[in-house]
Amino acid sequence: MAQHHRMPIESGCPDGFQYLHPVMRKNFGQWKYHDHPRPGVLRHVAHSGDEIWTVKAGTQRILDVFTLRKLCDIGDQYADGHVRFTIRSNIEYMVSDGKKVEPLVTALEGAGFIVGGTANSVAMISHTQGWLHCDIPGTVASGVVKSMMDELIDEFKNCRMPNRVHITTSCCQINCGGQGDIAINVQHTKPPKINHDMVANVCERPTVVARCPVAAIRPALVNGKPSLEVDEKKCICCGACYPPCPPMQINDPEHTKLAVWVGGNHSNARSKPTFQKLVAAGIPNNPPRWPEATAIVKRILKAYREDAQDWERMNDWIERIGWPRFFELTNLPFTKFHIDNWRGSRRSLNASAYIRF
Ligand code: SF4
Ligand code: SF4
Repeated sequence: MAQHHRMPIESGCPDGFQYLHPVMRKNFGQWKYHDHPRPGVLRHVAHSGDEIWTVKAGTQRILDVFTLRKLCDIGDQYADGHVRFTIRSNIEYMVSDGKKVEPLVTALEGAGFIVGGTANSVAMISHTQGWLHCDIPGTVASGVVKSMMDELIDEFKNCRMPNRVHITTSCCQINCGGQGDIAINVQHTKPPKINHDMVANVCERPTVVARCPVAAIRPALVNGKPSLEVDEKKCICCGACYPPCPPMQINDPEHTKLAVWVGGNHSNARSKPTFQKLVAAGIPNNPPRWPEATAIVKRILKAYREDAQDWERMNDWIERIGWPRFFELTNLPFTKFHIDNWRGSRRSLNASAYIRF
């Protein structure tokens, strides 16, 4: 009897091509040029003469169904019904008729959304919303974003920076997010506190020992029960032991702080990646508005805006003027915490995927 193999069921994202605006589909790969008529609006012109106008609006990042419906209704009424979300949760509407742009912008602004975020503006801050889905956050990254974007709204709506600025936040010290022109990251300042009564029941001790990047964790017997101990002189307070072993609590209302890093950039066709560097440490993790962290970010942006040359990204600017001048211009104190004295750093700084010969 002939055997019929069951065909695999494809899952995952559907092919995005079917959702493209028809004019984009028709001119796929045939674009002649694009320009930037005003902040928040891009125009792409195809060899055929067709045009696509893109209008970008900022959202509150974590979207509820009511806001999504409102955004989609605006798309149906004022645009051509084709949208896409950017990785920073901005929405982009595509229209093929330039006359639709102004009514669309007016409708979006009338509904309370901000149009901008293109070219040399400060784009929407990206973040991880750990408090919604993750088990280890030390802060509410989305709250930090909301507070900062409230103060940076004019930089989103205008294009006044030397080049685009990408800001990121992260709600723990080790995992997703936290790499950009400016990054606001959690910084733990004390080793984890161990609840020895729970370790034996909850944690797989070899996994936790293996997790520590500086081999600071050892198995130990405490009160006759198997547990773990931390060599606090070695511990770099990274928090990597906390996810596999929640009894090793590292989040602390007082000692979990924020730190600001600058100059991170991915590699592209012209340049290799640059690592961000710490410029401000021990900033209070101070909800609900995080005023100390916001003030530092604004200070860095002001110095960058006033001193960088056109088209210099944050890392290019710092490389040209040098770190001493960066600290002078931003008026940030340079302290011993800025010096990387960890002896493993030689190997870690060589960990880029960029190919060298
Ligand atoms: S940054 Fe850390 S805490 Fe936040 S979502 Fe990612 S892993 Fe979780
Ligand atoms: S916080 Fe980091 S360095 Fe310290 S014990 Fe845990 S994994 Fe090791």
